[in-house]
Amino acid sequence: MTKFIPWLLGAALLALIAVLVAWWIGSGRGPADPAVTRPPDPALPAAVDYEFVWPDGAARGTDVPREILIPSTGQRLPLIGLGDLSSKPGEDKVAFLQRVRRAMVEFSDRQTYEACGLICSDGNGGYSVRMTTVNAVAHCAVAPICLRGHVTMQQSIHSHCPNRAQFRATLADEILSGRAMRRNRFFGRCDPDNFSTTDFDGWRPGWLAAPGALYRHDGPRRITRFE
Ligand SMILES: [Zn+2]
Repeated sequence: MTKFIPWLLGAALLALIAVLVAWWIGSGRGPADPAVTRPPDPALPAAVDYEFVWPDGAARGTDVPREILIPSTGQRLPLIGLGDLSSKPGEDKVAFLQRVRRAMVEFSDRQTYEACGLICSDGNGGYSVRMTTVNAVAHCAVAPICLRGHVTMQQSIHSHCPNRAQFRATLADEILSGRAMRRNRFFGRCDPDNFSTTDFDGWRPGWLAAPGALYRHDGPRRITRFE
């Protein structure tokens, strides 16, 4: 009997190590692709989970990601930078966001896609937004990036497709809607002046860059309009 004890101890030790390694990887502290990150909380929820992917050598959290990856299907969508805006000295947050609004509305009116951005702060009265799009008519993927020296305020701003003709969904809409929308199919008119129901599921407050005004929501029944 005694001669089996070292073997049993060894097997038990191996099993313990395996459990610890599994726990370590499962807890998120294990090896991970350093170029991929998942937003800690959705800025604007999509029907599918997605991750941001940066090119090699890029600074995560600062540089514009190259694409978003939908792990469940392996699909990838390019993310396109639309430019950066920073507040001027003395310009308050709402005045700054009004400038962001005009830039986003101008883009959406021209391209029919949503423009999206994370609102960042330098902690000293300065604000910035790096605007991006995934070329979706009705979806945003808010990139978790700020200009260097700025940090996220966990608030996002985005614009909607313009209220003109009917629009066709894009490949990005099809993928981000989990195929509820189909590429090239028409869907109802866009409503650029109102939050959509899913907008309320994201971070609070959330901001809408609308053609006529800037809107802030703190939930579906708490909407503030800024002229
Ligand atoms: Zn929206």
